[in-house]
Amino acid sequence: MSIGVLALQGDFREHASVLRSLGAEVELVRRPAELDRVDGLVIPGGESTVMDKLSRAFGMAGPLKDAVRSGMPVYGTCAGLIMLSDTILDGIAGQQTIGGLDITVRRNAFGHQTSSFETDLDVPVFGGKPVHAVFIRAPIVDTIGPGATALATVADGRCVAVEQGNLLGTSFHPEITGEFRFHEYFLQKVSNAAFRA
Ligand code: GLN
Repeated sequence: MSIGVLALQGDFREHASVLRSLGAEVELVRRPAELDRVDGLVIPGGESTVMDKLSRAFGMAGPLKDAVRSGMPVYGTCAGLIMLSDTILDGIAGQQTIGGLDITVRRNAFGHQTSSFETDLDVPVFGGKPVHAVFIRAPIVDTIGPGATALATVADGRCVAVEQGNLLGTSFHPEITGEFRFHEYFLQKVSNAAFRA
């Protein structure tokens, strides 16, 4: 399985290293031809406004939308989750997304004072021990449409992890805490999708 990591901006190296340690072949994706070669894609954390601008400047926005529409499994963390959301609140003027997740996300939803924090989350689809989650200027899933399913919520009930078919998104960063279960869950989606088969 060849897994792409969108490498326009953000913490793509951390994702590449988690995926390699799980046995995946990893390709850093910056161009449409590289996207064509992979079976699934991770969109890292970083800054969604910059990722959006770069994806349009590099001619990647259209191919990314096509890939999502054609069923490619895609996992987005933090800024990556924002990129996968159909609707954004508190985006900058003109900010666009790839879309695919039937959700509305609010950028920087935890405010400036508490913009970074760590907590343990129950993720019922994993069972077992809670996920230790690091939130860095994180978005929240403000509204979930009928197509999407919440996978985890913070203590006040707000959603921070979501899936919809082959799409997976988390407000937090499993790639920096040694938490491999979301990446394993994603790789399972890729092998089930047999996208290029
Ligand atoms: N606040 C950033 C954004 O709006 C996301 C932060 C992150 O990816 N850690 O894109």
